[in-house]
Amino acid sequence: MAISSSSSVPLLSLNTVSSSSSFPFSLSCVRPQSRRNQRLVVSCSSSETDSGSDSLNGNGRHSQMSSMTPFGVTMNEAGLSRPPYKWRRVLLKVSGEALAGDHTQNIDPKVTMEIAREVASVTRLGIEVAIVVGGGNIFRGASWAGSSGLDRSSADYIGMLATVMNSIFLQATMESIGIPTRVQTAFRMSEVAEPYIRRRAVRHLEKGRVVIFAAGTGNPFFTTDTAAALRGAEINAEVVLKATNVDGVYDEDPRCNPNACLLDTLTYQEVTSKDLSVMDMTAITLCQENKIPVVVFNLNKPGNISKAIKGEKVGTLIGAAWNSTVAPRT
Ligand code: UDP
Repeated sequence: MAISSSSSVPLLSLNTVSSSSSFPFSLSCVRPQSRRNQRLVVSCSSSETDSGSDSLNGNGRHSQMSSMTPFGVTMNEAGLSRPPYKWRRVLLKVSGEALAGDHTQNIDPKVTMEIAREVASVTRLGIEVAIVVGGGNIFRGASWAGSSGLDRSSADYIGMLATVMNSIFLQATMESIGIPTRVQTAFRMSEVAEPYIRRRAVRHLEKGRVVIFAAGTGNPFFTTDTAAALRGAEINAEVVLKATNVDGVYDEDPRCNPNACLLDTLTYQEVTSKDLSVMDMTAITLCQENKIPVVVFNLNKPGNISKAIKGEKVGTLIGAAWNSTVAPRT
């Protein structure tokens, strides 16, 4: 692929150090380590079909639908042990930039294999993983708009197609090591991937499949960070894990000041009021409105992806606090 892209490494800096953070919602939901293995209900409903029942609660981040009998009697999961992991359903955002590795090629197969291996290790634990893949390693609409008469919308559609290329590459890598994976695209490309259908995506996750959301939001003028926040909210993910090339959010730019401190936690307000480039404003606002915390962490350090997915302390946590429910470090 010969199309070049501008590479913008996000500047994750904050002038005023603040480790205060609010924890605006409860993470007290109980879920068995492997819902697929420990499900109590023998149901004669249609919930076992691919496009089956909606296990989401429109308002909360958790739902009891998957543990309800066809007659609406809720099965109490309290008797089952809580998994030792902070999250049970995560949305992992991988930028195209990160996929490029050392930039010898647009995509570095070593990077996709590392992601696949780490995701495999957590799906075995029963944690449900959805992924939004960026496309900046191949094409960024904003960088190309205007050149050669390319209007922004057309450029953005090309950018969205780039995310599909990355998604199919990642899917193939995952399946090469035995992880069942589905790609769902925001606009129809039915010969290569499923269309995005929220309920079907949730069902795939419940069945232990990894779901990769491709083509961003399907709309120009948006980013895959916003797609991550949007899909995260739609599938009731408990966290958006933003994999980057830096360790997290610093109090100052670490490239200018080697003594800059990596921040443990931040509030959404701190991110927006300081105009930090952690995520674009639409994405962070969407996370804030839907009370979805965001973890910013370094994808390039081995083990970080699985740590982040398991809820272990890695990088910077926005909109929540590392607390006692965080799994012990391994
Ligand atoms: N894009 C878009 N709408 C979306 C998501 C992405 O138009 O909802 C386009 C946009 O041109 C963007 C490109 O796809 O530049 C690649 O996405 P992004 O820049 O977010 O990728 P990343 O920086 O994560 O690699």
